[in-house]
Amino acid sequence: MQAPAVRQTLAIGSQEFLRFAEGRSSGLANGHRTRWSKLAAMPTKRSGSIHLTRVAGIDLYLHWSWFVVALIEIQIRRGSYNSVIWNVLEYVALFGIVLLHEFGHALACRQVGGKANTIMLWPLGGVAYVDPPERPGAVLWSIVAGPLVNVALFPVFLGAWYAAWHAGWRNTNLDAYRFLANLMWLDGILFVFNMLPVYPLDGGKVLWSLLWFWMGKSKSLLVASWLGVVGTAGLLVLGIWGGSIWTILIAGYMGMSCWRSIKYAQEMMKVDQLPRRDEYKCPNCGQAPPVGEYWKCDLCNERFDTFATRAVCPHCSKHHPATGCPFCRRMGLMEAWGVQPKWVGSATVEHEQPIN
Ligand SMILES: [Zn+2]
Ligand SMILES: [Zn+2]
Ligand SMILES: [Zn+2]
Repeated sequence: MQAPAVRQTLAIGSQEFLRFAEGRSSGLANGHRTRWSKLAAMPTKRSGSIHLTRVAGIDLYLHWSWFVVALIEIQIRRGSYNSVIWNVLEYVALFGIVLLHEFGHALACRQVGGKANTIMLWPLGGVAYVDPPERPGAVLWSIVAGPLVNVALFPVFLGAWYAAWHAGWRNTNLDAYRFLANLMWLDGILFVFNMLPVYPLDGGKVLWSLLWFWMGKSKSLLVASWLGVVGTAGLLVLGIWGGSIWTILIAGYMGMSCWRSIKYAQEMMKVDQLPRRDEYKCPNCGQAPPVGEYWKCDLCNERFDTFATRAVCPHCSKHHPATGCPFCRRMGLMEAWGVQPKWVGSATVEHEQPIN
């Protein structure tokens, strides 16, 4: 059921929350970006990305800026090999490792019943657009699986380097030998950096999902995001001190992401405190809907409580067969929420339901 999804817009509390909800229903065609990557300011796959291929049902995109940065980076690193070809190979291999890491996230997310249809590579790394089920365990596994790929790759690179060392490539085939040694280091550095407990890095998200088990989703996200701000500030200082433009850029990107997560967590905490209708449950996340006029009719633009009126707008009598969840942002048919249809046989029927 696709069409009704955009008819009813959640309008809870502040504008921030409303914009967020609207982004879900209209801005994102596929709606499978995760809570955390959705919050991050980064190029979307529609703005200047090349569709490379589709593997296991996952679309792979490459942002155009990757090429620009690749040229600059390869230029800077010239001289570490005798032939620049090896610099190119090393840069491509780095993103090959990043890509495998993102596939780790995407496949783990699918394994636990979530959605993951897109991976994008851009100069600062890769992004897997994953939407795991709203359970801390499912989120934890979707995050941990990425760095685990780096762990699994390490012995492979170590073995290759050791074999090259054993074969005496250091004297006979120096570029290839350095390449293998660098791959091993890159994989190790990627793992260590990603596992820093600084939101929105994987380590920070691991911390978030662990805290989620005993603090709940919103509070744990707030704590992890504030710790992320502290860590990001530290990274920013390091970047300025070391004169590394990339560290500064990554810190800036992380800081923005933390800020948006804090805003989101605060909005979610407000929603958490609302009284609920325990007789109904979201078919997607199992949460009971809040009591109050938090739904907006797209026909008359008035707010109403769709669970009090059983999905009929009291202002214009429009029937809304599907409803958005304020907790997981997904749409579900009212019957799936546990609401018995009241519109059967009424004068304002849009979609008549058969009576069993
Ligand atoms: Zn990751
Ligand atoms: Zn839900
Ligand atoms: Zn209406």
